[in-house]
Amino acid sequence: MNKLSIVVPCYNEQESVPLFFPAVEKVVTKMDVTVEYWFVNDGSADNTLQELRKLHNDHPEKVHYISFSRNFGKESALYAGLQAATGDYVVDMDVDLQDPPEFLPKMYDLLQTGDWDCIGTRRVDRTGEAKIKSFLSDMFYKFINRISNTQIIPGARDYRMMTRQMVNAVLEMKEYSRFSKGIFSWVGFRTKYLDYHNVERVAGESDWTTWKLFRYAFDGIADFSQAPLNIAVWIGSVSFIVSIIGLLAVIIRHIVNPDAAVFGWASLVSIILLIGGLQLLCIGIIGRYVGKIFLQVKDRPIYIVQEKK
Ligand code: UDP
Ligand code: MG
Repeated sequence: MNKLSIVVPCYNEQESVPLFFPAVEKVVTKMDVTVEYWFVNDGSADNTLQELRKLHNDHPEKVHYISFSRNFGKESALYAGLQAATGDYVVDMDVDLQDPPEFLPKMYDLLQTGDWDCIGTRRVDRTGEAKIKSFLSDMFYKFINRISNTQIIPGARDYRMMTRQMVNAVLEMKEYSRFSKGIFSWVGFRTKYLDYHNVERVAGESDWTTWKLFRYAFDGIADFSQAPLNIAVWIGSVSFIVSIIGLLAVIIRHIVNPDAAVFGWASLVSIILLIGGLQLLCIGIIGRYVGKIFLQVKDRPIYIVQEKK
């Protein structure tokens, strides 16, 4: 019998954990697989760990957990879970039941056909989300798909079931700055997306503030594209050409009319400020990439485990 590993990152989810487990069990017990759970407690400040311990004590063979020494972020939690999972198939789920468990049998059956290596899910609507947020996220997908060779599917969630082969490929990507949407796409394999309607979380609150999403978006772009660096090249080229033209104009004016009055203090200041600003912008872009190199070469662990059962 095949084994299915369910990887569940949890951060401050004390209310969701006790609801999640029975909801998933109801579905998977009808499937023809053995199941193991890998909950990852991502440094929660509430009683999530206690809830996980309780679950583990009730089902010591089936339910396992990893508890981090602090909050390392969902991407790190996901990576830890994938590393721990031993199943022939691995599925990543949110604990807030926004990823409907009813999809599991269908995902599994589709993988069994051998036509696919990964069954992902894609939200087709965004009910219950602010208009401006949907708009910005649409812009983000358009932008990143234009400038990056790695295609990111709009609305795709991390809820996906993968074969062992694909999981091993994802585990090979040991980068520190982990943008999962990009990583899953980068490794290739045949992915099918199931559409579904947005579901609100059962309990607790999402801690994705707009500012956090912005940073996430920039990280995604910087991790999977070098296009922003080209901005520096373009700005540099354009101002170089403009300055050559300006220089020629000054020389010609001096030859034609050596006694011309000096003028243009205001335009000079504007030009200096403009060029200065553009230079800082370009240095900033380069700085972001240098920062990522810095984090990577330090080669720090992606997460630190405090407790594992
Ligand atoms: N999560 C995590 N670490 C974090 C933030 C979130 O492990 O730092 C988990 C969270 O418990 C949930 C999943 O990642 O199971 C998705 O988080 P959330 O529901 O807040 O995101 P959304 O569904 O709004 O994208
Ligand atoms: Mg959620």
